[in-house]
Amino acid sequence: MDIRSLVKKEIASLKAYQAKEVSCRVKLDANESPYGFEEALMAVRQIRTNRYPDPEAKKLKAILAKGLGLSPEKLLQGNGSDELIYNLITTFGGPVLYPVPTFSMYGIIAQALGEEKREIPLDREFDIDLGKMETAVIKNKPKLVFLSSPNNPTGNCFSSERILRLVEISKGLVVVDEAYQPFSDGKGFVPLLKDYKNLVILRTLSKVGLAALRFGYLIAHEDIIREVNKVRLPFNVNALSQAVAVEALKKKTMLKEAILAITEERNRLLPAMERIRGVEPFPSEANFILFRVKDPKKVHAMLLNAGILVRDISDAVAGCLRVTVSTPKDNDLFLRGLGRIAKEL
Ligand code: PMP
Repeated sequence: MDIRSLVKKEIASLKAYQAKEVSCRVKLDANESPYGFEEALMAVRQIRTNRYPDPEAKKLKAILAKGLGLSPEKLLQGNGSDELIYNLITTFGGPVLYPVPTFSMYGIIAQALGEEKREIPLDREFDIDLGKMETAVIKNKPKLVFLSSPNNPTGNCFSSERILRLVEISKGLVVVDEAYQPFSDGKGFVPLLKDYKNLVILRTLSKVGLAALRFGYLIAHEDIIREVNKVRLPFNVNALSQAVAVEALKKKTMLKEAILAITEERNRLLPAMERIRGVEPFPSEANFILFRVKDPKKVHAMLLNAGILVRDISDAVAGCLRVTVSTPKDNDLFLRGLGRIAKEL
């Protein structure tokens, strides 16, 4: 029996998200933090395994809402922010518009749900091409525009004026995905929520040392939260993740210090990479750096051979690899490896 003949056509032509486990000594491929919160695991001992988790993740949302100066009714919990992207597209449908290159899940989920997607290339500075995006917003009338800022994989924030212009002209929702916001100098778009009802913000705990928990959250007007909540599966955030996240978020100083350590390392790494001949790194406001080399597949393989795993982005951005900023020790191993390989090529 040919199973593929049974599959919906949009799924049959879909390529699964690449999240392969590759064994390596230094893992710099998935934008994870090198700093975890293992002490927070103590919190799971109080969990009663026979009971369902809090369906509303009340404690966790209360802490996050307080930190943002918002009411918890403006937050919606997800099993990772991936799930919230799924929920948003399920709720509002397409067309779904986003600039490229960007985070691949916007396109994968739109296609999986059989929704039309429109991809508009970024400009030469990796910023939003406002003319083309405006035209697409007017012509295609997207229900959802996804803007990852800082953008994965380019690392830059988009110009705030350009984002706002799209929010202003769009008759649909504009989702600013702030997965990497903690590593950027800017405040992000939360302060603007009160002015724009069609603005939606996505955040996640994955990049700040809690990727194992799978917790993301959406911040938006209550009317949006109410609709998206209808498609959220019951108990989507498990009790273990809720308890550990609540505990970890109490450790505010540790969280801040970990983020600071990463941004300082990023700021050290960038000029050090610039000094390597044949390597062109791009400025970043995230916890990773995109860099161009002459033969990305070869450099990727040679780094892996030295035990260092980075992400091959060359299919999306010509000639480019992406490295996650890690501890000083791991970053030095990466720098030394890259320097040696650059000389050999
Ligand atoms: N948005 C962006 C821009 C990302 O890079 C990622 C992670 N790769 C996510 C969302 C998803 O994060 P998570 O599902 O772990 O919250």
